[in-house]
This record gives sequence, C-alpha cells and structure tokens, in this order.
Amino acid sequence: MGVLQDKVAVITGANAGIGLAIARAYHAEGARVFVAGRRQAELDAVEAELGARVTGVRCDVGRLSDLDGLYATVGERAGRIDVLVANAGIGISASLGKITEEQFDAMFTTNVKGSLFTVQKALPLLSRGASIILTGSTAATRPQSDLPVYGATKAAIRNLVRGFAHGAGAGQYRINVLSPGGTRTQGLIDLVPADQLAAAGATIPLGRLAEPEEIAAAAVFLASDASSYVNGSDLAVDGGFAQV
Ligand code: NDP
Repeated sequence: MGVLQDKVAVITGANAGIGLAIARAYHAEGARVFVAGRRQAELDAVEAELGARVTGVRCDVGRLSDLDGLYATVGERAGRIDVLVANAGIGISASLGKITEEQFDAMFTTNVKGSLFTVQKALPLLSRGASIILTGSTAATRPQSDLPVYGATKAAIRNLVRGFAHGAGAGQYRINVLSPGGTRTQGLIDLVPADQLAAAGATIPLGRLAEPEEIAAAAVFLASDASSYVNGSDLAVDGGFAQV
C-alpha cells in the first residue's frame, strides 16, 4: 500500500516537468490525481499514460474562472482534496534594464496570483489536515541578475506560505514551500542557454542539476503523514546550491 493510498491530490502545472513527475509519484503511491494545465493534448497524454485514478483538467491558474472550473470538477468527482500542489509557474529571463510590463505581469499573474487563488479557491474542498504545497525556487533566496522578477515572485510565495501557515487553525491544514534548485525540465531548457546549462552543474555542491523525480520524492514526503508536523517551512531540494 502506498503512502498516499486513496488520498485525493490536485496538482497544477502537471502535464510537464516537475508537476508531471509529482503526478507520477503520487499516482504510484496510490493517490487519486487531478492534473491541471493549459494544453489539452498534454493532459490527454498524462491520462493515457497513468490510466485509472487520473483526471486531466484544462486550467490556466491566472484565470479565476478556470480555477472555479477545476474545483467544480474535483468536487463532483472526488468531493474533497487531501493534497494540493500549486506548482504552475513560469520564468522569463530578463534583466532590470530589459524587463517589459508584459513579462512582469505574466510572471506575477501565474506565479503569485495563480498560486494564491489556487489555494484560496480550494479551501472549501480541503479535508481536515490536508497538505498544501507551493512550488518555490532557490531564486527566492539566491537572486540572479537575469531573473530578478522571477525571484521576486518566488520570494512572494515564501511570504504567502508563512502567512497562511499562521492561519492553519488547529490542524485544519498545513502548508509548505518546496523549493527546487535547477532541475532538468523543458522549462529550464527553454530558459537557460545550452552552454550555461551545461556549466550550471559545476556551481552546485552536488555537481549536477536535479532530475524532476528527485523533486517529486520531496513532494511525496510533504504530502504524506511522514511530514505531519511540518508547517510553514521551505524545503530546499537544490543539491546545496542556495545553502552554502
Ligand atoms: P515546465 O515549463 O517544464 O512545466 C511548467 C508546467 O506548468 C507545465 O505543465 C505547464 O503546462 C504549466 N503551466 C504554466 N503556466 C501555467 C498556467 N498559467 N496555468 C496552468 N498551468 C501552467 O516547468 P518546470 O517543471 O521546470 O517548473 C515547475 C515549477 O517549478 C514552476 O513553478 C517553476 O517556477 C518551479 N521551478 C523550476 C525549476 C527548474 O529548474 N526547472 C527550479 C525552481 C523552481 P501548460 O503549458 O499546459 O499550461
């Protein structure tokens, strides 16, 4: 029996990258998984791959009406949420001198507004003691010159979670940040030039980028009863990058 047996999990940004790895890991641990993303073909592919206990729901987390639709589906089909992972996020490389209003709005809309309302609108469906996880980033604590606004969105997520953790109210839920370091996903490959990506591993104490499955393993821990007293924390899974 898996450590998430019969739990109902909702994961945003789960048709690719880290979110997909989390969906696979939760499914393997016995969870019923709702996978949210914007691209229908990728959602269909996840359903086809994992089969039973998986439902893909088209949802742009920056649109509140889409979130209403997501939770209407979850409510109808499962009636509750035991684990919520607000993972959808985008990074756009742009220095202080080059960032545009559109890029700023896109990152804050998906990463901050999207994460906040992904949690707020789930509240009526949360089961007692539910685990909420928001995907942060080492960029929150170790800002980079080409990603200052992205880092600011992830720092905002850290602050939101600390505030929400105070309101957890006698075990109604617990909420934590999971902060990956550089992780080998399409999102990172699109963001970082190939030569820089090849060199990035050398800047990390463990000498390499993370694989999405290594982030997913930590997401299983935060979702499971093994982390029952972990609340308001920021778990870095970064090979030591932001720690030393
Ligand atoms: P990918 O670009 O590989 O995947 C992003 C996922 O998010 C896709 O499933 C995408 O699906 C979805 N997504 C993007 N925007 C939205 C939106 N508005 N609404 C719903 N879904 C959306 O990214 P990663 O897997 O690399 O990143 C996942 C998370 O991890 C992000 O929050 C990112 O900031 C964070 N992170 C990543 C790191 C890395 O090195 N990879 C390091 C630190 C943090 P679709 O396009 O269909 O919407």
